[in-house]
Amino acid sequence: MAIDSHMHINSIALTDQEKYINLINNNKNIEKVINVGLDLKSSKEAISISKSNPKFFSSIGIHPLYVASQDLKDIYDLANNKKVVAIGEIGLDSTKNNLEDQKKYLIKQIMIANELHLPVIIHSNNTNKLVIDIFEKYVKPKYGCVFHCFQPDLEDLKYLINNNFYVSFAGRITYKTAKKSIEVASLVPNNLFLVETDSPYISPEPVKDQINETANISYIIKKLAEIKQISYDEVEKITSDNAKQLFKRLK
Ligand SMILES: [Zn+2]
Repeated sequence: MAIDSHMHINSIALTDQEKYINLINNNKNIEKVINVGLDLKSSKEAISISKSNPKFFSSIGIHPLYVASQDLKDIYDLANNKKVVAIGEIGLDSTKNNLEDQKKYLIKQIMIANELHLPVIIHSNNTNKLVIDIFEKYVKPKYGCVFHCFQPDLEDLKYLINNNFYVSFAGRITYKTAKKSIEVASLVPNNLFLVETDSPYISPEPVKDQINETANISYIIKKLAEIKQISYDEVEKITSDNAKQLFKRLK
């Protein structure tokens, strides 16, 4: 069974959320999902959904695009919940010009994760080198790290592998323009990659015009099986085992 290591049920319209939660609950191919918070509100909602749905786990944090006036003390307190498996998504995003603020939030949230013995989920939009710089100069995740929707770069990949950090592949790898991602996927060791849908965003190629749902994880697994020349079932098992290895509370 597959684990969708990164999705946002809270980004789906409220009136449709129940429907998509049930689709996951009733899908025999999906073992677990990590519902990722983007700010305090969606982090709290993610925790609340995980309480009534056994397959749902949550990751909580302040996304770089939402860093203004968010209280990190609350993130710290909320992380005590057993179904919170990571701090994230946190990171840097070059589309907004408040990188100095974003850096402060990133540093503080990595410190929270380290203190609580939790891994981090990194969002990096054209900022891999800057994030790595923060790891080296300020604070490095001590309990594991994944670059979600990894923006392919061989030098950055080398750094992540050397540190035992993970990369995660989403729908983008199924696109015709994914040449560099395919190269990264062929080079990443089997013990260091995850799969995710980032639902409801970035739908895989075959369903590009539809709202992205967790069931579409199958297109990503299929593509990775093709690239790595192993079976679908092997990719599914490898990525589920890797997710449990990184997210210790995902049990
Ligand atoms: Zn996301």
